[in-house]
Amino acid sequence: MCSVPTVHRTARIALRTTPAQRRRCYGLLRSAGDVWAWVIDGNRRLREQHRPEVANFSALCRELTGTTFGDLSRQCAEAVLKNYSTAFFEAVKRKKLGVRAGFPRRKRALVPVRFRKGCFAVDGSRVRLRVAKGPPELWVRLGRAIPYPSGSLRSVTLVAEAGRLYLDMTAEVAVEVHPLDPARFAGVDLGIIHPYAVVTGDEALLVSGRAIRSEERLHLEDTKRRSQKAAGKAPSKGQRGSRRWRRHRASGRRAEARHRRRVRQGQHEAAKAVVSWLVEHNVSTVVIGDPKGITTRDCGRQQNLRLRNWRRTHLMACLKDKAELAGIEVVLVNERGTSSTCPECHKAAPKPRGRSFSCLHCGHTGHRDLVGARNIAARGGGSTRAPARVTHRRAGTVPARRDRRRHLYDERRSCPAPGRPGGPGSRSQASRLGAGSPAPGTVHAVDNGTLRGSHGGCAGCVGLMRRCTSFDVLMRPKSSVCLTAYFAVKQTLVICTKSLRCRAQRRLAGRKGRGRGGG
Ligand SMILES: [Zn+2]
Repeated sequence: MCSVPTVHRTARIALRTTPAQRRRCYGLLRSAGDVWAWVIDGNRRLREQHRPEVANFSALCRELTGTTFGDLSRQCAEAVLKNYSTAFFEAVKRKKLGVRAGFPRRKRALVPVRFRKGCFAVDGSRVRLRVAKGPPELWVRLGRAIPYPSGSLRSVTLVAEAGRLYLDMTAEVAVEVHPLDPARFAGVDLGIIHPYAVVTGDEALLVSGRAIRSEERLHLEDTKRRSQKAAGKAPSKGQRGSRRWRRHRASGRRAEARHRRRVRQGQHEAAKAVVSWLVEHNVSTVVIGDPKGITTRDCGRQQNLRLRNWRRTHLMACLKDKAELAGIEVVLVNERGTSSTCPECHKAAPKPRGRSFSCLHCGHTGHRDLVGARNIAARGGGSTRAPARVTHRRAGTVPARRDRRRHLYDERRSCPAPGRPGGPGSRSQASRLGAGSPAPGTVHAVDNGTLRGSHGGCAGCVGLMRRCTSFDVLMRPKSSVCLTAYFAVKQTLVICTKSLRCRAQRRLAGRKGRGRGGG
């Protein structure tokens, strides 16, 4: 009987939980954090007494006997100990090799909980997670179908990221069998502008990363604006942050996590497109240019930031994973100098500034990234010709025209455009308050209302103000965006819905509206 080669692959699936399930899941994560802290504290005490630390897995398990940690089952607690033990001995190994390494000494509030086979059961879209004896069973619902055949699941891991719960489902899947040509090589050049440039024979594939770059630029701009806005309200060092400040930090973490998810998704989709293209062209070996060490040299402020934000190891890892699953062999070579060498005459050429490469010696011209990919293929032992046909693909989704972040810094607009239009069923302010225009009788019209501060608000706001007796207009400094235009007229609050676009405004309006009973 011949054995089928298999690989382990993990898919992250969001959980749909009821508030009670959510509380219990967080309880498990906290309990795992307690186990982690328990080992670290125990070993710290041993260090202080100049006794050897305990890191052996079975020794740790023996020490665990008789101790319980909330709802966490014995098997899950052991999984945390296993992680500790692995991290500890990895650090020992690296220290012996003279590499900088740290022992696990930092406590964490939430630690992922791994359920090995037998500690979980899958029933359609529901998963039962084993908890300690006594409390009721814990069932959770998955947000999407499991992408692996049933019976191949080996373990699941409960993780929390920026306030969301996920299950990482690890499965052992058989390597796909495709009719690949053993003599066929392909070179892959990784890049920022084009995440993947692939050449095999005289065919090429260029994946554009414009959408990912656009997402990155918007996110950077958004982060800058948010921190600018909050800078004045930040608690000083040692001062306890207010509830508002905690909320601000949580929203920052959410935005960061959303951005990471979008980029990760875009890169996975791109890698998938590359691997299916490789299978189509019967490529058996793919040579990837490893940009290792690219961040060690100083390339100037802007380029340094670009290189650090470029998730090159993820790009490489997801291509490698998908290629191995498709039965394609992966070879890594150093990519240094591949974009400044001519693939025809193998002489050094000046590094091109734009996208097109031209050789001073033989006059060969071509796309810069494809030239790099051809040189990389040659380093791995493959031979390619100048591409006769180039296929273009896109990675990721372009941020929508109506992306809220586009308008945060658009000074030309008097009012920010809505991120989520107030259509039927949407939770935006316009539909929730049902106040497209102020209710009649709440505004007292006069001829000359005086304006406190300068106001560059929307036409609706300005019009309303002209008709009011007294009001306060709070303006965000140095901005023409109308932040809060609200009018306190005889204890009645009129909200100009046109200016209520950003979340802060909505919250403010909601609070004021509730407090005074009005709008
Ligand atoms: Zn040349």
